[in-house]
Amino acid sequence: MAHRPPMTRRALLRSLGWGALGLGAAEAGADAKARRRPPNIVLIFADDLGYGDLSCYGSQTIKTPNLDRLAGEGVRFTDFYVCAAVCTPSRAGLLTGRYQIRSGLTNVLFPRSDTGILEYEVTLGEALKSAGYATCCIGKWHLGHLPQFRPTRHGFDYYFGLLYSNDMDKGEPPLYRNDEVVQEPADQSTLTERYTQEAIDFITAHKDEPFLVYLPHTMPHVPLYVSERFAGKSAGGLYGDVIECIDWGAGEIMATLERLGLEENTLVMFTSDNGPWLTKGEHGGSAGPLRAGKATTYEGGIREPFIARWPGQIPAGTVCRQPAISLDLYVTCLRLAGVSPPRDRPVDGKNILSLLKGKGRSPHDILYFYIGENLFAVRAGRWKMHVRGREGKKRVQLDQPELYDLRTDIAETTNVADRHPKLVKRLQSRIAKVEAEIAASTTPRS
Ligand code: MG
Repeated sequence: MAHRPPMTRRALLRSLGWGALGLGAAEAGADAKARRRPPNIVLIFADDLGYGDLSCYGSQTIKTPNLDRLAGEGVRFTDFYVCAAVCTPSRAGLLTGRYQIRSGLTNVLFPRSDTGILEYEVTLGEALKSAGYATCCIGKWHLGHLPQFRPTRHGFDYYFGLLYSNDMDKGEPPLYRNDEVVQEPADQSTLTERYTQEAIDFITAHKDEPFLVYLPHTMPHVPLYVSERFAGKSAGGLYGDVIECIDWGAGEIMATLERLGLEENTLVMFTSDNGPWLTKGEHGGSAGPLRAGKATTYEGGIREPFIARWPGQIPAGTVCRQPAISLDLYVTCLRLAGVSPPRDRPVDGKNILSLLKGKGRSPHDILYFYIGENLFAVRAGRWKMHVRGREGKKRVQLDQPELYDLRTDIAETTNVADRHPKLVKRLQSRIAKVEAEIAASTTPRS
């Protein structure tokens, strides 16, 4: 695996026409004074939280007043997807704007893995850094734990958190600050609160410049942990306690932005990497009305709560019912920062700023969902079609595609493929086309 040294990366950015963005300091400084400061971005990213796990998405047992307020003051999406149903590929898509099959990060990484995000990729952190943002990643990284793959090598000025899932290393993973192990094993019961404090400290220290706070919580991925003051409080059991602690953290961050007078110029977003881990029983979340959960491409695995607040820009109480995907956040954030997405490679995300404002239609006529290297399902308008599935633990090509009408059948219970042969054919040909395009792609993948 070849990794470019930092100078080559700089040359690459310059060759993409990014030279003036943050790299020419004097010019950028003069420009910055003339221009309005671009918005700060706070992206709170839960792990394995389901579509039905917040009050504002219908939970009857878990109370999330802060996230509900965030939604009430901004926009709540009903049809927001993540690009993968498990941790690593979902994060790869989120931070590159590209379907994970393009970056080769198609499966979950483990402590023994010797791979990770390639130098070639331009992460959200790198792109925003090039526009003068202060950037941090606080929480679970999961895009490679070896030094060359860590957040501080991929556009984040500061890192605090676990480099992979909390059930790895026999459930006793080390806690890092930048490249240093600061606690081993990490005390997981206080993680959510410590992450929150780290985010608040970063915001406070960088209040006078644009910042990106990427806050991928370790929770509610099992094993679940919560501090004493949240334990036993939620009607949703330990899982509910954990979510209510995350909700508290969102409230603390909102209060910090308010205190510092940054509310009006900060886009705060909340979502999760994939659906609930249903096989964990009471320690897994709820997909609400959706079918199945984590590790599947039924709606429960990939459709997530998505909330965004930006006072003065996003009208309060907006509900967006248009399909959108986590890949879009990359492009949208870059555009807000005044950065063009890389032009030398396919970027699959789209700018969804108008959807955030409750206007217009989805920029996607089709969304693709992969498990590992294989395309399993697509969403096109009201339709969802599955072309692969599982037989026990095996992933198989379905003899006949399954087609569901999500407008009348959100739970994907009734296969209507027989009634819509032309539509099935049309979607099959789109799938063949994208598979051929990706097979022919020359993007480095390892
Ligand atoms: Mg996850």
